[in-house]
Amino acid sequence: MHTSRAHLWLSTWLLICLIGLAAPVWASAQALDVSVMPNEPLSLTQYVALLEDPEHSLSLADVQAPEQAARFHDNLPASSALTLGFTRSTYWLRLTLRNNSEQPLTRMLVVENPRISHVQAYLPDAQGLYQTYTTGCDTAAPRLYPNRNFVFPLSLPPDSEQVVYLRVHSSVGLLVPLRLWSEAAFHLYERDDYLVQAWYFGIASAMILFNLMLFVALRERIYLLYVAFVACMVCTLAIKNGLLGEMLPGGTLLDSNVAYYSGASLTVSALMLFMRRMLRTDQLMPRVDRLLLGLVVLFALTPLAYALALPMLARGAILLYLSNVLVILAVVVACAIKRQRSAYFFLAAFALLMLGGAMTTLRAMGIVPTNAFTVDGIQLGSALEMLLLAFALADRFNVMRRDKARVQEQLLHAQQQLVDTLKSSERELEQRVAQRTDELQLLNSKLETLSLTDSLTGIANRRHFDSILQQEWQRAVRQGQPLALAILDVDWFKRYNDHYGHPAGDACLRQIAQALAATVCRASDRVARYGGEEFVFIAPMTDAQSALEIAGRVIQAIAALALPHSETPSGYVSVSMGVAAVIPSAEHTASMLLQQADAALYQAKTQGRNRAVLTEDASKARSNIPSQTPD
Ligand code: GH3
Ligand code: MG
Ligand code: MG
Repeated sequence: MHTSRAHLWLSTWLLICLIGLAAPVWASAQALDVSVMPNEPLSLTQYVALLEDPEHSLSLADVQAPEQAARFHDNLPASSALTLGFTRSTYWLRLTLRNNSEQPLTRMLVVENPRISHVQAYLPDAQGLYQTYTTGCDTAAPRLYPNRNFVFPLSLPPDSEQVVYLRVHSSVGLLVPLRLWSEAAFHLYERDDYLVQAWYFGIASAMILFNLMLFVALRERIYLLYVAFVACMVCTLAIKNGLLGEMLPGGTLLDSNVAYYSGASLTVSALMLFMRRMLRTDQLMPRVDRLLLGLVVLFALTPLAYALALPMLARGAILLYLSNVLVILAVVVACAIKRQRSAYFFLAAFALLMLGGAMTTLRAMGIVPTNAFTVDGIQLGSALEMLLLAFALADRFNVMRRDKARVQEQLLHAQQQLVDTLKSSERELEQRVAQRTDELQLLNSKLETLSLTDSLTGIANRRHFDSILQQEWQRAVRQGQPLALAILDVDWFKRYNDHYGHPAGDACLRQIAQALAATVCRASDRVARYGGEEFVFIAPMTDAQSALEIAGRVIQAIAALALPHSETPSGYVSVSMGVAAVIPSAEHTASMLLQQADAALYQAKTQGRNRAVLTEDASKARSNIPSQTPD
């Protein structure tokens, strides 16, 4: 790894551009003693004599002839390569080598640029006759020595001098880095060189395969674009480094400079497609995105133009690539300023690639020293770029996953809120329904109470009495207990009304009702207003005599009220009561009991009023039930 390698795509055009600025001073060449060689390669630029053949017409014999031989320029300035620019001319290189030792020597002459279209080496054989070896990336000839560069083994007899001629011509920029190696050192170099190539292409293949699998698994087009970009870049570098030329038979389209330039164009296209998707330029900057798409199409079409007229277009193509680098940089920086996260990765990756390119170029120009970082800078930069972009893809995936998780969380939260709201409105609704139900129940019970209560006196009304009578009758039937009933009628009440007025009559009725309720006070006894100025009470488990006694107490209680009634013989309000009691049996009904009480009342009225009379049936029955009739 001590020596220079093939120049890189960036270094190539940069150096070629610089050749126009450089003002080479040609000086006289001298024979180079190669009998003692260090392990380092010997850069031959300053020992070369150079002759331009713009017409491509000179033969070996011509350049050997004194007339043309004198036209060779020699004593070229020491540099790593002859940089001849975008020239259409053929160039002849003459090199005089000496073996001052007593031993025959083998030296390796290496043209370290696989991108030269035509290379012809004229090497003297043991008899001193020149043998011609033709090679070059745009020729069909096989290589003399299997290497990615053009290598010519030289045999130098003891104590001899040899003149070696090289004839070079290229369809693109002509850069001729010439090195001379001892055989052993060259083999070591070869091993290291191929190690670096294997290292780079191994990483690239892994990235391609891995991202291809990611594409298959995730169906995300960006992975395919990444794969396309890396594959194009790798193929282009393989062509550029001469690996395809070495592996494939010479003269194939795949190793030509047209293929090399086309590969570079497709790499740029794929990179921009990848970049558009990665940086989401269609959303972030739609106009610039359309420009980028235009450039993608332009670059994708350049291979057609290269196939037709590469020599004419090569210089323009270099300028196009250079300007496109600036466009890409500007877009990435703009996206980075807009805080597009992927742009940071892209910028770093692109910067690494550019740094690698710059390092290789500066090394080729002799500005920075030759070391592992500068020699394979472009490959190192490219590998780091690949890795960083792959990392950016992973980061992008991660960001998308986080975004998705956040959205899901928000959705879940919203859903939970909805559920909570629904639950709370359901609770509220339930509460309202319960409240309404309570209110309705209260209202119902009020209505029921109202419907069962007499509005004037506040005691049970006739309807209530009817149902109570039925209930108590049933109970008495079940229990076989006597049931007593009394009807109370106010005496001369019509007259009371007539005399004291109806409102006074109402008040009188209220007082009578209260006295009745207060007197009939057993929990099981019930009082009611039967209608008009008539009242009733029911006394369960009460025999006739007890009921008569209760009626007597009622009469006394009303008399105790001492309500004045001037229209009666006594001068006070009095009542008459008809009392009936029976132990219910199959031949009795509740209405019969009522009729008996009514009949008894009638008797009370006819007997002079202000008294309680027991129904005749009960009186008769009483004689049959000694325990219940104490008289
Ligand atoms: P008696 O029963 O002693 O034979 O005589 P009476 O005057 O009470 O006769 P009757 O039972 O025929 O009269 C009942 C009267 O009661 C008629 C009506 O003016 C009166 N009355 C009925 N209901 C009410 C009421 O709600 N308020 C008032 N103030 N008077 C009523
Ligand atoms: Mg009456
Ligand atoms: Mg009456």
